[in-house]
Amino acid sequence: MIPFNVPPCVGDELDYVKQAIDSHKICGDGAFTKQCNAWLEERFHAQKVLLTTSGTTALDMAMLLCDIHPGDEVILPSFTFSSTATAAVLAGAKLVFVDIRPDTMNIDETKIEQAITDKTRVIIAMHYAGVACEMDTIMDIARRHDLKVVEDAAQGVMSSYKGKALGTIGDFGCYSFHETKNYSMGEGGALVINNPAYNERAEILREKGTNRAKFFRGQVDKYTWVDFGDSYLPSELNAAYLWAQLLHADEINDNRMATWNAYHDAFRPLADAGRVELPTIPADCVHNAHMFYLKCRDLEERTALIRYLKANDILAVFHYIPLHSAPAGQKFGRFDGADVYTTAESERLVRLPMYYGLTEADRNKVIAKVLEFYAQ
Ligand SMILES: *Cc1c(COP(=O)(O)O)cnc(C)c1O
Repeated sequence: MIPFNVPPCVGDELDYVKQAIDSHKICGDGAFTKQCNAWLEERFHAQKVLLTTSGTTALDMAMLLCDIHPGDEVILPSFTFSSTATAAVLAGAKLVFVDIRPDTMNIDETKIEQAITDKTRVIIAMHYAGVACEMDTIMDIARRHDLKVVEDAAQGVMSSYKGKALGTIGDFGCYSFHETKNYSMGEGGALVINNPAYNERAEILREKGTNRAKFFRGQVDKYTWVDFGDSYLPSELNAAYLWAQLLHADEINDNRMATWNAYHDAFRPLADAGRVELPTIPADCVHNAHMFYLKCRDLEERTALIRYLKANDILAVFHYIPLHSAPAGQKFGRFDGADVYTTAESERLVRLPMYYGLTEADRNKVIAKVLEFYAQ
């Protein structure tokens, strides 16, 4: 079976994990966490990056830092993972779902403004497949209506928009290092803080409501409980695994991009013949080959394709069931305007195997079997 995903492993992860064990420092905020934070800050020109226990908890932190009160509204796409929405719900917000654009599957920036009410506080921009949302327009809307922007860049590590790293454009950015993402630590993530005014509050929130980070920098003599908080520090064992991956970030990116380009070239004739649709990468976006998807004619054709690939030992998958049609989405939110694309496009989309180290032989088999399906 050709799997859909294999967690990235470059080979020297265990050396760094052993270093963490030998240093007798395996709880959070040790040397590896600090190295990862600094690497992400330098590489992405980010003001401040803090590793977290997951992409989901990075989103939780971002929403808490946005200071949402019960009854406030958060605008987000319905075509996204549950984490994007549940962070807003935990903070007390009501969800307002907006339709997506069919070319990138990202939130349709032209439909955001009509969804704004006097209760709106935050827009969440989820960069699907590591391809940026139309951020200039979104930031302009946010500025004019005094809203915060949280980027769900869980899939967008190493991607950029007009030369700026995803995650560094809004007020906050959230990365995921889950095993299904381009760079991994098993479970983990990071919060990017783009306004230094939030640095201290974020450190307190992440450290059980204490000013422990300030204490370690020698800025206060004693640390104490100062605000509400939680524990969002990943273990050094996980950070050590991530560190190995970051040192090979370009190699991982190049490897995935080669697979993505091979898929794209191979399926272009099918797209030209109008049989499938391929992902669109707008001119302002550099993507990270997080995902390769095709859009079939309809749900029936997609089901048949997935079955055909499975019969040929290839695992292809689809997602997302639009959140506004899920039980929790109905309970916590409403869809603003018409669902023109969210449901219809999500039913046609299929993701092909894509991971670091996917062999050329396996990739070519996937290509051959998809072409064979469409030649029938
Ligand atoms: C993976 C993902 C998350 C959650 O990340 P975890 O690290 O698994 O918690 C959030 N949003 C999107 C869009 C994702 O793809």
